[in-house]
Amino acid sequence: MSRTVEDRAPVAAGAADAVAGAADASPAGPGLTPGSVLPTPLARPRRLRTTAAMRALAAETAVEARHLVAPFFVTADPDGEQPIHSLPGVARLGTNALLRRLERALELGVRSAVLFGVVGGEEKDGHAHAADDPQGPVARALRAARSAFGDDLVLITDVCLCGYTDHGHCGLLAPTSRGLVVDNDASLARLAAMAVAHAEAGADLVSPSDMMDGRVAAMRAALDASGFENVGILSYAVKYASAFYGPFRDAAGSAPSQGGAAATAPVPVATSGGWGRGGVVHHDLTPPSDRATYQMDPRNAREALREAALDEAEGADMLMVKPALPYLDILARLRPRTSLPLVAYFVSGEYAMLKAAAAAGVLDEASAVREALTAIRRAGADLVFTYHAVEALEKGWLA
Ligand SMILES: [Zn+2]
Repeated sequence: MSRTVEDRAPVAAGAADAVAGAADASPAGPGLTPGSVLPTPLARPRRLRTTAAMRALAAETAVEARHLVAPFFVTADPDGEQPIHSLPGVARLGTNALLRRLERALELGVRSAVLFGVVGGEEKDGHAHAADDPQGPVARALRAARSAFGDDLVLITDVCLCGYTDHGHCGLLAPTSRGLVVDNDASLARLAAMAVAHAEAGADLVSPSDMMDGRVAAMRAALDASGFENVGILSYAVKYASAFYGPFRDAAGSAPSQGGAAATAPVPVATSGGWGRGGVVHHDLTPPSDRATYQMDPRNAREALREAALDEAEGADMLMVKPALPYLDILARLRPRTSLPLVAYFVSGEYAMLKAAAAAGVLDEASAVREALTAIRRAGADLVFTYHAVEALEKGWLA
């Protein structure tokens, strides 16, 4: 009943204003008699918004626990738990802390998690040797989670070299006559090996985020050849070179760096990509300062459709668009062009913006998170990777 009284309050206030103004002019405005001139509306969409129950009945989009994938940063220290300054509420977790978080996620109905490995600088090198280490943090976390939760949980792993290379690029670097470049084809074997290592440790889905050309086909072939034909590929098919990844790079220690990599750059060899195969190296060996040669240009949309079509043709089982809110148009354009599940990554910068705005008291976090996740689903995403997953469900923000 209280809701009815509240709903009527503005009407009562408006009526009081009208009465107050009656001494000067008609409440409908100068020269107008109410109802005598203006047409009555032919359609009344507001009928479907009259009550909360009616709005729920007419709602086209839902965000439920089953639509959310919880990301976790995992480290080798079993008992470690290091808060990440730029991502409030998110931490780098050792296996034991991870298992507690996964258990809570499951209780809340989140049945899938994506794992990102974090290794120390001493384990990084030019060839990302630690990326497919069966004793690395992701492989350990996979085995522990599988043993604790069996098939209740869908375990997804990020497959990319940037967390394991000393230069922070998503592929291997190679010297060419135009300087150091990210060597597409040489990177494929390392990515495929990483996917197989994750499959061996228990991953259900491997999720390449590197944006090398042909990596889905390379991983599919490697997985099949290793007996993992039922391990799927969730491809970051459309990953933009975005400023919104800032906090993630802090969390995973994966920002591209220009210093120090020259010493560990591969010796000049014939490369399968880039320029000047066999040519003379006359540039200094400084790694590219950003990821613009492999991640997508934010100015492009048609190219996104091409990237998605290629990954689907190569055998991807799910396709991702990343980031989410600045690229809802891409999700909406892609939706009618593929039958595969679409995934959006509501990325670290988007999370951090909402957290900062909420902390500053300029918006209501519950409403903003609900609205953002709903918009991502409405645009066409079946699933959303989001750091808000557990908190939003725990605090009832999606109800
Ligand atoms: Zn990467």
